Amino acid sequence: MGLIVQKYGGTSVANLERIQNVANRVVRTHQQGNDVVVIVSAMAGVTDGLINLARKVNETPDKRELDALLATGEQTTAALLAMMLRSMGFQALSLMGFQVEVRTDFCYGNARIQDIRVDRVRSLLADRAIVVVAGFQGCDPDGNITTLGRGGSDTSAVAIAAALKADCCEIYTDVTGVFTADPSVVPKARKIDKISYEEMLEMASIGAKVLQIRSVEFAMKYNVPVHVRSSFSEEEGTMVVNEDNGMERVVVSAVTMNKNDARITLRKVPDMPGIAAKIFSPVAEAGISVDMIIQNTRASGKTDLTFTVPKADFKAALAIEKKVAEDIAAEDVFGDENIAKVSVTGVGMRSHPGVAARMFNTLAREGINIMMISTSEIRISCLIEQKYAELAVQALHTEFGLDAA
Ligand code: ASP
Ligand code: MG
Repeated sequence: MGLIVQKYGGTSVANLERIQNVANRVVRTHQQGNDVVVIVSAMAGVTDGLINLARKVNETPDKRELDALLATGEQTTAALLAMMLRSMGFQALSLMGFQVEVRTDFCYGNARIQDIRVDRVRSLLADRAIVVVAGFQGCDPDGNITTLGRGGSDTSAVAIAAALKADCCEIYTDVTGVFTADPSVVPKARKIDKISYEEMLEMASIGAKVLQIRSVEFAMKYNVPVHVRSSFSEEEGTMVVNEDNGMERVVVSAVTMNKNDARITLRKVPDMPGIAAKIFSPVAEAGISVDMIIQNTRASGKTDLTFTVPKADFKAALAIEKKVAEDIAAEDVFGDENIAKVSVTGVGMRSHPGVAARMFNTLAREGINIMMISTSEIRISCLIEQKYAELAVQALHTEFGLDAA
């Protein structure tokens, strides 16, 4: 018996039949004696559909009104699920973000949660009600509806679980958990039973789409155990928890890849103070985030500088750098979209030296050239030609002993 927060993603509530399946799960958890708070996403495809609708009105719709529109996706699912639970004879109630109250900053479309009241949720739970909350939405200090960024209902769920000090936050999705690699690329990929917040954070930051990155930050900060699992099976999923001793036994927990970035190189840039600032400030001002950066110093006083940006921002960034190149008298600027980033992640790296060398050797054996390298304490990423991405992931998965028997 405890307090369980369950979050159901878009595919888990894609139609009435699936919402009924969710209702059955919720009821089962409730009948086991638990208090249950359910966070729902919009039905699969609904958020995209609403965005398209808005774009027909205006290519860049008003941000306040767009959030008011997008929030209806989750409102619909929450009301339908609560309705269903009530017709099954249970005391259930839907609450929108502002009713919970999920208080955010003013940033429409990508608001950050600042504070959650949960008083109303608590008193409803005390009456043994099942509380259904519309995910992805909150309200700013002026009472306007805000949304938390794509995939934001994960963050709603973990933040509400943290505020309620829930025993567990279950994230229901259409996969059975977090895998050692994408099973569609590596058939021998295995489900991970337990992974640390930090590893999950690294994986989310390099493009793993299982959890919104902010939800992992919340979970880590407030120590909320997160259980990622499928709403279509009874199988146990992956626990995302604090690092423990058992995790040190594996050096690398997962191999991932990401084809979402492009690379920009400025050739023969003057090697003197202020140049890097001139190259990166206008990109930052355009709201484009830069990932990997390398710069080499040459004897001639000129240097090449290469960095990566999301493919979606590639053209804009390239145009900006063409201007910058003229400004700073760089010789040349060119871009490349045919790249992929492969990464190995694992807390075990802290206690096992030589992981980078092993990774480079593996890629060398496959004849794959490394263009750029970046590392964190628990991750090593290599930028390679896109056509080798799958091969690289498979070879690394085998090298680090992750293949299923
Ligand atoms: N419906 C929103 C989206 O598609 C939020 C979510 O599903 O987490 O991004
Ligand atoms: Mg999602």
